[in-house]
Amino acid sequence: MEKVIIILTGAPGSGKGYLGECLIKTLLESGKISANEMVIISTGDLIRREIKSESALGYKIKSIMEAGEFVSDEIIASLLKENLLNNPARITILDGYPRTEGQVSDLARIIGNRPVYIIHRDTPSELILKRIQNRRICEKCGKVQTADHADCVSCRGKLVMRKDDAAIEKRLELYAKETVPALELLRMAYPYRCCVVNGQEDAEVSVRYLISEPLAELFEK
Ligand SMILES: [Zn+2]
Repeated sequence: MEKVIIILTGAPGSGKGYLGECLIKTLLESGKISANEMVIISTGDLIRREIKSESALGYKIKSIMEAGEFVSDEIIASLLKENLLNNPARITILDGYPRTEGQVSDLARIIGNRPVYIIHRDTPSELILKRIQNRRICEKCGKVQTADHADCVSCRGKLVMRKDDAAIEKRLELYAKETVPALELLRMAYPYRCCVVNGQEDAEVSVRYLISEPLAELFEK
């Protein structure tokens, strides 16, 4: 069976990862897909998994990260290739890749002629900043909640900002500088199956639209 790739794009904090989870959950509940028919791959998860596997590559990545350096596009591409082509799912959702022009060409080489859909979650940066500056995580149990509480609603643990969240302004700048032009190239490479959903609407609403319109052909039995 031919593998299909769905690329989720959007700024950091746009909620694209949540959109992907919501898409899978809705499709499973409505019986349009079976378990394991669709997976989400995020490069962050791939890197964490490789380190945990204690492979030679995992050790190499660990030492690069411990030195405070970035994992190269080449290493990410090799991880992605293996996981994308060898996972048993019919549909693979990519979350957070590609982010640079180099990664756009790596991805094109990896996926060849397989069908690609691009879904962009368009969330204004003011809204992202507002949401993220109000988001806290419990140091003790990891529950994510808003800053309106003095301490964790489930365990009274201390609420802190996630490291990633604290750096949101920097990440948004990098996104505008590096990723926006890369996504332009990506859309030019696959112009027929690109769509945009409004990041201000609930993910559930966007998912209903995606299933009934741009992605409908994937679930016709
Ligand atoms: Zn807690």
